[in-house]
Amino acid sequence: MNTQSNSSEPRDIAVIGAGIVGMSCALFLQRDGHRVTVIDPVDPGSDAQSSFGNAGSISMSSVLPTAMPGIWRKLPKMLADPTGALAIRWRYLPTLAPFLLSFLRQTARGRVEANGRAIAALIHGVFDAYDTLVAETGTQDLIVRRGSLKVYKTDQSFAASAFERKMLAENDFEFEILNSDELRQLEPALAPIFKHALYLPQSGGATNPGQLVRRFAERFVAKGGVIHRAPATGFRFADGPVSAVVTGSGDVAADAVVLAAGSWSRGLARQLGAPVKLEAERGYHIMLEKPPVMLQRFTMFADAQFALGVHDEGLRVTTGVEYASVDAPPDYRRIRAVLPDVAESIRDLDISERGIWMGRRPTLPNSVPMIARSPRHANAYFAFGHSHLGLTMGPVTGRIIADLVAGRDPGIDMTPYQVNR
Ligand SMILES: Cc1cc2nc3c(=O)[nH]c(=O)nc-3n(C[C@H](O)[C@H](O)[C@H](O)COP(=O)(O)OP(=O)(O)OC[C@H]3O[C@@H](n4cnc5c(N)ncnc54)[C@H](O)[C@@H]3O)c2cc1C
Repeated sequence: MNTQSNSSEPRDIAVIGAGIVGMSCALFLQRDGHRVTVIDPVDPGSDAQSSFGNAGSISMSSVLPTAMPGIWRKLPKMLADPTGALAIRWRYLPTLAPFLLSFLRQTARGRVEANGRAIAALIHGVFDAYDTLVAETGTQDLIVRRGSLKVYKTDQSFAASAFERKMLAENDFEFEILNSDELRQLEPALAPIFKHALYLPQSGGATNPGQLVRRFAERFVAKGGVIHRAPATGFRFADGPVSAVVTGSGDVAADAVVLAAGSWSRGLARQLGAPVKLEAERGYHIMLEKPPVMLQRFTMFADAQFALGVHDEGLRVTTGVEYASVDAPPDYRRIRAVLPDVAESIRDLDISERGIWMGRRPTLPNSVPMIARSPRHANAYFAFGHSHLGLTMGPVTGRIIADLVAGRDPGIDMTPYQVNR
């Protein structure tokens, strides 16, 4: 072990968490010549990870944070709707209160625009980082670049996207506005009930996100990386710096540690001196059989609050923003309630359920991930809080973490991603 922080020398680095974020950090650190151990009690790509069951969108368009201007006015109605997209388990409200207060403070227009700029700055680097890891891991078969869509049934719902279009334009993202005929030509699988669409040509997708993480991990191990199958429970310190990660099956000695445990990062971050307001924002998917004419690209349905992901095993319906404790049991009622709308939206679709799943988006109040060095322990790094965009931002986060560990300039202003924000 080398406890000096000479960044150009190979060092022993522990990464906590084997989801898309942790595995991307591990691969980029390995490219720099470090000896990397990934610590996780579950297999990379397992269904316990958020990285397994997401919609597969690699989004070059999701610049809006969840905390939007005026959302607090809509909250009571949204929460009262038993099949609506937002739910809070009431018993969890006292625990959630500090997060909610911070969230509401982020809804001021200036904050929303700043948070959108921070998200956009990361998104611009997404495909460079993906290209590097996809070439490294031979996973070209799992990545598609066909753009994405957001579709609107009414003039009113399309008009409500004006702020989003302004943010896309201001942050240099390409988009095209399609009428119903243009939309039908681009995406024949859609039923002819949509009057308007936004086509985001720069976006792409992963056709099997769990498989992608698994294949990243296989390559990592083939190159000499170690996966330590145990939960991290704490740290040992040597007069300030972390010297080892304590796990359920022994210590893992490390010159540096990266915390990338997704929704489970809060307790470990606190032990590293960062009391973060991280919540598990739960979301759901249902797998359906592919329709006779398959959807070609990730599509969001603005009027009905669900999205469809294009998975190699079928059509993946995703929805839900649910706040409850990280370990609370799933409540599948809301996602099942959107199936009639899904059936109405895709031609000749069989909505028999082939699989159902709940995942946890690691979410901070302003939707901006924490990608930073610990303010208290100079060799500890944070890489969590990617919320709705972890699949999108995993590789670019890994690239930036490797830059921070090496002392290289990551090429973007890192201020918005710090612990103290
Ligand atoms: C319904 C839904 C749809 C989504 N759609 C998209 C999408 O289309 N595009 C997109 O970009 N994002 C999407 N997301 C978000 C994305 O899935 C997440 O942001 C991303 O998977 C987070 O990755 P992660 O590696 O941080 O966390 P995870 O994948 O959850 O991995 C965290 C890992 O940490 C491990 N861990 C926990 N505690 C410990 C411990 N003590 N010690 C060691 N390891 C530990 C866990 O076992 C787990 O393996 C979606 C999410 C949901 C729920």
